[in-house]
Amino acid sequence: MEKQILILGAGYGGVKTACGLQRQDIPFALVNDQPYHQFTTLMHEVAGGRDHPDDYRIALQDLIDPRVGKIRIGTVSAIDWKGRRVQVDGAPLEYDVLVVALGSETEFFGIPGLQKYSVQLWGFDSALDIRRRMVELVKKATAEHPVNVIVGGGGLTGVELTGELADWIPHLSRQYGVHPEHIHLILIEAMETIVPMLDVELQRRARQVLEQKGVQVRTGTKVAEVKEGQVLFDDHPPLSYSLFIWTGGVRGNRLLGESGFPVDRKGRVPVDPVFHPKGMSDVFVIGDCAAFPGPDGRPLPPTAQLATQMGDHLAQNIGLLLKGRPLNAFHPHLRGTLASLGRGQGIGEVGNWKLAGGTARFLKEANKARYLWSIGGWKTFSRKRGQIRWA
Ligand code: NAD
Repeated sequence: MEKQILILGAGYGGVKTACGLQRQDIPFALVNDQPYHQFTTLMHEVAGGRDHPDDYRIALQDLIDPRVGKIRIGTVSAIDWKGRRVQVDGAPLEYDVLVVALGSETEFFGIPGLQKYSVQLWGFDSALDIRRRMVELVKKATAEHPVNVIVGGGGLTGVELTGELADWIPHLSRQYGVHPEHIHLILIEAMETIVPMLDVELQRRARQVLEQKGVQVRTGTKVAEVKEGQVLFDDHPPLSYSLFIWTGGVRGNRLLGESGFPVDRKGRVPVDPVFHPKGMSDVFVIGDCAAFPGPDGRPLPPTAQLATQMGDHLAQNIGLLLKGRPLNAFHPHLRGTLASLGRGQGIGEVGNWKLAGGTARFLKEANKARYLWSIGGWKTFSRKRGQIRWA
């Protein structure tokens, strides 16, 4: 009898698994809460007012061939891995092989008021929300009532978003006849440097580029509490905000822990070299909700690069599984990190190379092209290439 393969989540890991199975003509069902795959790593561009939001998502029906894959739009509310079924919008779905690729969610660290008063850059809808709020705020900015946009968390997400907003503000100001000095953009980071995961020279460069764009960068400043219109810090006076965007970290999707999967302190499921959680031979966990050990034994950071490689690898392994052959261990090929700092600049580490300026940004655009091609060939590339800016 045909095995029922069920993929939960149409992010980078889930979509890559689905596309890989499709190429092998292996039937599957894909469950997602939205009818589209969003390019999550580019949401700062949507929030920062680049032209066509629809360039940043693709309908699942344009990716999945209905002869091979069934799409089910709904929210997964529980995974019964002992009974081999999941609950989707209250209805059970049975499986023989389960792929969990449900991604991560915002980490609030229990900071009082943070979840209630902040907005997060979390997917397409929240990115559009930030975009709309920015327009409304800029329209109202005056010398007496300047607008304070605070981004909390100077990791890669915070830095990419801040760079994008900083480039957009002068355009918005011109459009609405507002003086750009009446809009303050502030990036807050608890550590002594922004992008602490990058090389020191790149940290310095990121700060310099953002400051040149008019961003106030405040490091060594830890968000301790958020109230309506005000953010409080451990050792600094409070700041008023018109919009507070939290980009301070992520954790694995909490559904995993709630469904009895073993999880680490970041809510991610430790997996073996073929992505099985301990003792679950018919379940694979990939992407941001998997804790896959790196060379030093510590879990690799959750990135789209890793999730896509995991999805490709898993699709091949499921092909082997169905043929009764042994599965291959996953060996990630981490090529480095590239981050944009607004529309014309970037920073990155590729192998031993430290990149900055236009080269890093260009490589990042090339990555976008490569990804579009990898999921849907020319058809997807030509439809969505509006997100790519070579110049
Ligand atoms: P992160 O955890 O990497 O960064 C969050 C930042 O917020 C940290 O620098 C942290 O010190 C700071 N922070 C935490 N609590 C704070 C507080 N109370 N006050 C002030 N600052 C605080 O989270 P992220 O940037 O969302 O990234 C999540 C994952 O996604 C990472 O693995 C990252 O590498 C990856 N990512 C990659 C890219 C890229 O490759 N271009 C882009 C975005 C995200």
